[in-house]
Amino acid sequence: MHPKLSSSDWLIEEPHFDLAEANFKETIFTVGNGYQGTRGSLEEGHKGELSGTYLSGVYDNHDSTVIDQVNAPSWLPLKVRVGGNLLSMQTCKVIEHRRVLDLQTGTLHRDTLFEGDNGCRTRITSVRFASFADQHICGVRLTITPENHSSNITVESGLDAERYNLDRLPAYKDSPSFHPEVKWEKWAKSRHLEVTRATACEDRAYIEAQTIDTGIKIGMATVLDVPGTCGPIEAKRNYESVSQSVSIETVQGQSYSFDKLVAIFTSRDLKKTELGAKCEAALETAQAKGLSTCLSDSAAAWRTKWEACDSVVSGDIAATRAMRFNIYHLLIAANENDPRANIGAKSLSGEGYKGHVFWDTEIFLLPFYIFTQPETARALLKYRYNTLNGAIENARINGFKGAQYAWESADTGAETTPKWTHDGTNRIWTGEEEIHVTACVAFGILSYVTATGDQKFMRDFGAEILYQTSRFWISRLERNELKDRYDLTRVIGPDEFHEHVDNNTFTNRMAKWHLVQTARVFTELFAAGSSEHESLMNRLDLTPDEVDKWAAIAEKIYVPFDPERNLIEQFEGYFQLEDIPITEWDENNMPCYPEGHDHFSLNGSMLLKQPDVIMLNYLLPDEFSDEVKAANFEFYEKRTMHKSSLSPAIHSIMGIEVGDISSAHRYFERSAFVDLINNQGNTQDGMHIASAGGTWQSLVNGFGGFRVKQGKMTFKPWLPQKWSGIAFSLKWQGNDIAVEISHEECKFLLSAPVGVNEPIEIFGGQEILTAGQELIVRPPPSP
Ligand code: BGC
Repeated sequence: MHPKLSSSDWLIEEPHFDLAEANFKETIFTVGNGYQGTRGSLEEGHKGELSGTYLSGVYDNHDSTVIDQVNAPSWLPLKVRVGGNLLSMQTCKVIEHRRVLDLQTGTLHRDTLFEGDNGCRTRITSVRFASFADQHICGVRLTITPENHSSNITVESGLDAERYNLDRLPAYKDSPSFHPEVKWEKWAKSRHLEVTRATACEDRAYIEAQTIDTGIKIGMATVLDVPGTCGPIEAKRNYESVSQSVSIETVQGQSYSFDKLVAIFTSRDLKKTELGAKCEAALETAQAKGLSTCLSDSAAAWRTKWEACDSVVSGDIAATRAMRFNIYHLLIAANENDPRANIGAKSLSGEGYKGHVFWDTEIFLLPFYIFTQPETARALLKYRYNTLNGAIENARINGFKGAQYAWESADTGAETTPKWTHDGTNRIWTGEEEIHVTACVAFGILSYVTATGDQKFMRDFGAEILYQTSRFWISRLERNELKDRYDLTRVIGPDEFHEHVDNNTFTNRMAKWHLVQTARVFTELFAAGSSEHESLMNRLDLTPDEVDKWAAIAEKIYVPFDPERNLIEQFEGYFQLEDIPITEWDENNMPCYPEGHDHFSLNGSMLLKQPDVIMLNYLLPDEFSDEVKAANFEFYEKRTMHKSSLSPAIHSIMGIEVGDISSAHRYFERSAFVDLINNQGNTQDGMHIASAGGTWQSLVNGFGGFRVKQGKMTFKPWLPQKWSGIAFSLKWQGNDIAVEISHEECKFLLSAPVGVNEPIEIFGGQEILTAGQELIVRPPPSP
């Protein structure tokens, strides 16, 4: 194995190859850098592989039911043949195999010992990376050691543009499980690429392909550096692929290294005509440095990233590793340099949800970026600004004013939710009804500005979104004359078991908050009187009178509440539904569907897919009393089935907040390990990236007890006995705060220019953090 691996709390290991697990490993071993994500498929491929490179913002709708994040040309192919026989998992005996993802340096390491039919044993090691120092560069170093033979070995390195996205699966009775070698063959596939140029020579191979409907060109150039004793490089150009091969007479026991470097650009980055030259130039620079330097440059960039966001659980190495694993995937999911792209529900690690962007971004992912990489948070929110026209068009199509963000968004912001499940058996209504996403976008903007103080973002971009989206709510709200209130009927809240409901409290309350906050922002910007704001008002034809009306209407939005029990009703009529108890739990101690039920049959019951009221209590901590939060947690938790990976983390946080710590640690683990142990059974489709963000929140907002209340940082930590401490960092108003919490004390250190002070609240007590001075607070004695 590569000598420079980090310590074991940074390593994710695969101790052997298991065909049944190979697709889920491809997801978790994704390497990437926000610009691209490349699944952890084997370089030589395997029958049943689900490989893919996804480029941020590259979507296409040709040939697919809804727009796809395109499975781009693959840069991985690297095949080794010994005496003409391919070394692969299915053609050789595998004597040893181990892979390690080094989270600290963003590198994937492999060590496989193959034995061919003739008894020849050949060891292959590789290290793979997608550079964090130059997002356009990636590569593999492959080292071959013939252990018991001296043979002729050939290495073929390619770029392959014959790629397809998975689209639909026929409906099979009783959902049979197919053999892992053939299961993807059952799917209808979509074709998105047309090869426009393919060249190969001894020095370079280049492939250029264009997405068929969206017309985005992707250029990839590669070079293979080979040992001096190799024969000449043979270049091959096929219809949809290019390759370079060499052959070498090897000597038993000696190792031979082959460095494959790749440069990738798309016409989203530059003019179509410049692609080839740009790939060529980038590759030349990388080649001049050499792969070792590219690797160390990338490792240095990783170090800088980790400094801002590493999170540690003392006394639980598995938890620390899981935290780092989730953060690693958050880091490779987002592109701080591209405000036109966002993070799909499976990041750049798989095709699940077709790369579409959900409320997951603002509610589950954004907190991590806001508090550790605010420039990335800004880019993600800027995507919402850049897709505002799409949102305006959504509202217009649906007969409303202003801007309505899509439940599922891709390149333009247009609604892209499919109408049917991939096997065509169930109608999906979320695109029509899960309208709370618009308030969630506003929530993201307001949270970002509060934490960073980036008022310029609010003035230049945020305000316009808030105003346009407020107009959407005003036109979507229905006046109920009889009851003198405003309703939102036929919606879906975060709990997607219940469709076509009226007055979902989450949606209504978030819309109300959205309008009230927008009125506040307007008042402040109006009072500041900048010319930018004045021209925005002119452009939108917005007057203080209109904003006053928003605030007045907000007051009358209906929020179902039972004051006697302190219970928020999830939606009108929810309390009258059948109260089916949960009686069975799976091996992870998570609820099983009641006999005869599934996701689509629980509309008439009180069972929930994921937190709805509890989510609301979490997002708006200032708006609900402790008693209300506790009563609702008690009521809804036992009816929640956690059928979304987004669910457990929020329960761990809110359980701690209301003092029900019985399941907090279990919920944390459920979230932190969702992909590492594939506990939802679908990690093959890509990372549950929102759960990764939820895991970070579980540590920081749950165990760390961090909330922003009335614009101020507050902490009320709690740790399970199993843990001796946690440590994490937060960015606040441009400064860094290091937080260390143990059972005995909480330590805070503000790194900021001398003289900076920050008021914070800890365990309900008011404290002042002073730059450069450690603040230590002991927890109050337990009651
Ligand atoms: C969840 C949604 C989520 C989506 C994408 C669904 O299963 O219910 O809340 O936005 O997955 O992650």
